[in-house]
Amino acid sequence: MLTPKFDQLVKALQILPSVGQKSAQRMAIELLSKKRSQGLALAYALEIAMNEIKECQICHSFSDDDICPICADVRRDDSQLCVVERASDVVAIEQSGAYRGRYFVLGGHLSPLDGIGADDLHMDELVALVKKSAISELILATGATVEGQTTAFFIHDALKACVDNITRLAQGIPMGGELGYVDSLTLHQALQNRAFL
Ligand SMILES: [Zn+2]
Repeated sequence: MLTPKFDQLVKALQILPSVGQKSAQRMAIELLSKKRSQGLALAYALEIAMNEIKECQICHSFSDDDICPICADVRRDDSQLCVVERASDVVAIEQSGAYRGRYFVLGGHLSPLDGIGADDLHMDELVALVKKSAISELILATGATVEGQTTAFFIHDALKACVDNITRLAQGIPMGGELGYVDSLTLHQALQNRAFL
């Protein structure tokens, strides 16, 4: 549009989630007109991250080294293992500050309609890890979606003989949520999973 190199930048920015052509053009213009040095720093950070961040050999989350900082941290609780779909879920749970155990990142969820089966996830590695570890609680923190539930049931079936306690994250009313605005399935689950005060 403006120049071939400008178009190339706009196209590259559009690979980011929720960035359409218009936002990408705004970003490109902002970077070129006011933020050249920050733009170069961004390009450098991207290059380093894309080339050097890898998967942790134990939990399959992102890591700079073979083993990630959480797996390497001796202060974490070895008796709890929390299974999530994506590394972003690890970040979310860490930010809650409510969990001190270990993690395992599956790499997605089972989705027969999209042709994603157990072989496409780190399912064998999870089974092997649980079998060789002294885990007393396996927390299934897959998504509250049909696929997330299916994945949780699959893992439960595969590992119920190996772990004493297999739990699922509670589902229900969001903080600040008014009952009148909550859908009936969420309300149903909130009533089933109610907790003592
Ligand atoms: Zn790890």
